[in-house]
Amino acid sequence: MHTVHLASTNRHKIKEFTRLFGSSFTLLAPHHASIFNTWIEDGYTFMDNSIKKAVFYSERREGLILADDSGLSVAALEGEPGIHSARYAGPHATGEDNRRLLLARLAHLPEEARAATFWCALALARDGKILTTVEASCPGRIARLPAGTEGFGYDPIFLPSGATATFAQMTPAEKDQYSHRARAVAQLLRTHPPDRWS
Ligand code: IMP
Repeated sequence: MHTVHLASTNRHKIKEFTRLFGSSFTLLAPHHASIFNTWIEDGYTFMDNSIKKAVFYSERREGLILADDSGLSVAALEGEPGIHSARYAGPHATGEDNRRLLLARLAHLPEEARAATFWCALALARDGKILTTVEASCPGRIARLPAGTEGFGYDPIFLPSGATATFAQMTPAEKDQYSHRARAVAQLLRTHPPDRWS
């Protein structure tokens, strides 16, 4: 059994990681979000932010730390919302606020100009030092209207390439067949097997 501390307080992401790592891992989330009160997300890329978050958390907590940063890049918006995905419509924006703003900005665009990619960067750290990093993506496009009730964030408006349903219309297992997070976890376990983590 491998124990990993997740540097995340996002319950949706914690749920996905728990499923993706499976039963031979114990994933522990921070007891109090306040540990991140002094954390400032000031990187320029998903990878920057995941590395900074992993180092920040592993300087404050013993053991293996896994940090992630993820988001959606829309080609027609020159990569926005990108690293600002969580706060696209403002500092206290909800998922619905963000989706509404994105749909409004793309309203004039036809199907073929609605390409978007989800990104997920992961950084594994111990004692303030990075052990490894990976980054994975999921290409797709932004739907015209939201559909589905599963998931979180941009799930109701994201159609992964090769699928006819949005992430929010899929079961968790179906989303894992496409998702940026599932691909990043698979890549991490492949390139840096857990027996090398200690
Ligand atoms: P952060 O990684 O906590 O900075 O925030 C990532 C943001 O990107 C989330 O709040 C969502 O808005 C969006 N996002 C990342 N991954 C997903 C996903 O799998 N589905 C839907 N939205 C996502």
